This record gives sequence, structure tokens and C-alpha cells, in this order.
Amino acid sequence: MEKIQMVDLKRQYEKIREEVDAAVLDVIRSTQFINGPEVKAFQKDLEEYLGAKHVIPCANGTDALQVSMMALDLKPGDEVITTSFTFVATVEVIALLGLRPVLVDVDPGTFNMDPEAVRKAITTKTRAIVPVHLFGQSVHMEPILQLAEEHDLYVIEDNAQAIGAEYLYSDGRRKKTGTLGHIGCTSFFPSKNLGCYGDGGAVFTDDDQLAQRLRVIVNHGMEVRYYHDSVGVNSRLDSIQAAILRIKLRRLDDYARARRQAAAYYDEAFGGHPSLGIPVRSPYSTHVFHQYTLKTTGIERFELQKYLMDHGVPAMVYYPVPMHMQKAYRDPRYGQGDFPVTEQLSEQVISLPMHTELDEEQLAHITARVLSFFDQ
Ligand SMILES: *Cc1c(COP(=O)(O)O)cnc(C)c1O
Repeated sequence: MEKIQMVDLKRQYEKIREEVDAAVLDVIRSTQFINGPEVKAFQKDLEEYLGAKHVIPCANGTDALQVSMMALDLKPGDEVITTSFTFVATVEVIALLGLRPVLVDVDPGTFNMDPEAVRKAITTKTRAIVPVHLFGQSVHMEPILQLAEEHDLYVIEDNAQAIGAEYLYSDGRRKKTGTLGHIGCTSFFPSKNLGCYGDGGAVFTDDDQLAQRLRVIVNHGMEVRYYHDSVGVNSRLDSIQAAILRIKLRRLDDYARARRQAAAYYDEAFGGHPSLGIPVRSPYSTHVFHQYTLKTTGIERFELQKYLMDHGVPAMVYYPVPMHMQKAYRDPRYGQGDFPVTEQLSEQVISLPMHTELDEEQLAHITARVLSFFDQ
């Protein structure tokens, strides 16, 4: 059996090696490393795939979030609502820009932002909501968009974990996650569903003016060369990464299918187990399984993790410490017990290997090992 990895990028690469090697060599031979034609072509490909009017590539997913908030002209002290159960980047950029992160609890089934909690967190200082489509499934967006409209708030979607997922509107329409709010952000970190071979990210929007602002911000606040009308940053996707992403984007839906197949295998093995809760599929979203995350009860989760590691099965805890309990983001407004669902999840969740290359033999081994933990 092939060694089991959390994410097996090597075997994935082997299947597209010739195409990738040729594309990378082409960029090197062209020497158009920055803003080369591949970047523009990838931008167009991604616009078409997402059904988004504008894609603005940038250096990574954290930058995508940061430039989005810069483009909205938020003022120091303005409040931005997001969840405590997320990767740090979401909260980090809010704090970095001098804005006030306002954290809310999540839904215990989907692990995603609870719209009712968002409603309660809105104040006169709230300017934006940042829903995080965690683990590959969309936040319940319709109530969030409704709240945003009622209170005149921006919605910036953190789509780093759910690119390719679709939101299913109650009237039957479908839309790719990241294209429902004012701005969508994603990351092309290698282990993400659409990952490059280094760092990368992108911002998407249907708003022409916002798109123009974003393009200026990622380029040093410069519209006309060497004339800087606003403070910007340097955030670029390089041509080699763009060339690789074009190849992988063509396979993104197949990759999602492979992930769903692995998830279905896990479900079959763990469904109904008294100590293991399988991922909930929400009725308003497809699932692209960035992670396959179990909710454990009645066991010491780190013991399960250790047992699995000892038997050749990697397993990870995303995320062991909620944002409101992190030293850097301590805030007198929050304390232990304020986000009970998030706090409980941070003690219960464990994620199993999830990627595009899991084969039947590996899945059989993983599931057998998870189940045998309970026979000890
Ligand atoms: C990965 C990730 C990011 C940041 O992406 P980078 O490319 O690593 O900067 C932001 N938000 C979420 C939810 C993520 O998973």
C-alpha cells in the first residue's frame, strides 16, 4: 500500500506531470515570470469557471482577504463580523488593518457561521461580514445576504476551503461559493482544493469599481506607472503558478468528485457509530470536502489521533484553539464559554486524510484503524 498522506500531492502530480513540466518550462523559456500571459489566461479561465465578472490574482489567500478589506475603505474601529472557528488568517487581517473583529458562534452541524448569531452581533459600527465556507461547504448565505442588505454591510466570502462548491438558493438557482457576496477570496496554497506549487491567491467580484480598486491596491496603489494615488501592497500571482493552476483548474470538478467518493466511503464505515459523527451535508450547498471532519463524543480525541498515527494513518485537528481563546486575539469582550458550539467543536473534531488520490486499499486501512481504536 502507498504511504497514506493527509494530502497526497505527489501522486496527483504524477498524473499530470507531462503537462505541468511542459507548462513550467514554457514559462521559464519565455522569461515572463511576472504578469506573463499565463496569469491573464488563468484569470479568464477562473472567471469563466466561477461565473464571476472579475478575478484579481494575488500572492496568497491572506492577502486576498487583506486587499478586499482595503478596497472597502473601512475605517479604524469599524467592526467586521466573522467566526471564532476558522483559520487565523480571517481574523488576522481584520486586526492588522486596525478594524475590530467581532466573532460569532457556528452551527453545530455544518461548523459554519450561524446567521442568527450574526444578526445579534450587528451594531451601528458593523461594516462587513466575512463568512468562511469551512471544510468545503457553503455558509447558509441567503440569511446573511439578507442581513447585509438590511444593514448596508459588505459581504466578503472567505472561500479558501470551498472553491468549486455551489450554493443552492431556495428558489433553485445555483452559484459558486465566493461569488455571492460583494467580494470572494481564495487561496491556492498547495493543499487547498485548487492548489498551486507555491503560494497564490485570488479575489473575485462582479463589481466593476471594486475590481478596479482591487487591481490598483495589489499593484502598489498604482494606476499610472509610478503615480501612487492610494496606499497599496505588492501582491502578485507569478506566471509559473498561474500555468500550473490552469492545468489543475480543468480538473477541479473531477478532483471534487474523487474527494466526494472518499467521503462516501468514510460515511459508509462510520455512519451510525455511537462515538463518531459524520459530516453533515447542508441542503443549501454542495460539498467539495476540503476536509473530512468527524465529530467525536465520549473519547479522548488526541488518543485517537495518536493511535491512528501509530498505525500509519495521519489525522489532524482543525482547529484545536478557537480564535477568541488565542493569545493574540484575546479581547475583554470575550471569554471562555461565550461561544459554546465553537469551544465544544474545538475539543471534538478530528480530520482524516482527504485528497484526490485515496485508493480503496488506503480507505479500507484508514476506516479499519479508526474502528479498531474502539475495540482496544
Ligand atoms: C488557507 C486559508 C487562508 C489563507 O490562505 P493562504 O494562502 O495560506 O494565505 C485563509 N482562510 C482560510 C479559511 C484558509 O483555510
